[in-house]
Amino acid sequence: MPPDTAPLLQATGIDAGYGTMQVLWGVDLDVRAGETVLLLGANGAGKTTFLKSLVGLIEARQGSIRLGGEDVTRLRSSDRMRRGMTYMSELAVFPDLSIEENIRIGAQALGHAHAGARADELYGLFPVLREKRKNPASSLSGGQRKMLGIAKALSAEPKLLVMDEPSAGLSPLFVKEVIRILADLRGRGLALLIAEQNIGFLEVATRVFVLEGGRIRFSGTVAEMSGNQALHRAYFGLK
Ligand code: ATP
Repeated sequence: MPPDTAPLLQATGIDAGYGTMQVLWGVDLDVRAGETVLLLGANGAGKTTFLKSLVGLIEARQGSIRLGGEDVTRLRSSDRMRRGMTYMSELAVFPDLSIEENIRIGAQALGHAHAGARADELYGLFPVLREKRKNPASSLSGGQRKMLGIAKALSAEPKLLVMDEPSAGLSPLFVKEVIRILADLRGRGLALLIAEQNIGFLEVATRVFVLEGGRIRFSGTVAEMSGNQALHRAYFGLK
């Protein structure tokens, strides 16, 4: 494969679990630079477990993870972040910290000297956060909190943003707003890996992986997925 088409992220044969329980079985997934990949799966399919193994919050028992061509399988989470992969969990923010503190924390963790300038850029993307920047994150609405979560993750200037269920806890209106924001970020060249149950996110995706019982059941383009009758029935609820 020529270097310019090598994946930004390549996970191969990932096994992971908790204690004696194995959750993931040989999971393969890749994300190319600037691409938006959706990891679809029901509750308990293993999406969070997989994302955590990618970013180094739990150990991959088998398999390898390459980021920008480098093997990061045994690197600490913070070192993977330094190399351009940032994780946004479902909770996403520190509720007791101010909005400003949340936004600066990602950049500060990396020792970036220009954390202030980066925060200004992010307030440009999310003006409502600038207005409220001295308030605690807990004072924000669910949708605004999710925006703050995205801003906090972006403050580390990732090449790849790994997101766990950005729709969690949001009303359909805010889900649409999050999808709009993600489409905007994609337009700016950021690569996104989004774990979701909400098929609304297919709108922003270039490729889809479907996880079932800890195994990849399908991978392909959005068009290929809608052409697959069994998946179509399972995920679009159509006959
Ligand atoms: P959800 O949408 O509910 O978060 P998911 O696809 O992200 O689902 P995981 O959270 O990865 O799924 O969970 C996969 C399996 O691992 C489930 O059976 C879950 O109960 C189990 N599990 C998750 N976290 C732990 C943990 N810390 N200790 C033990 N088992 C866990």
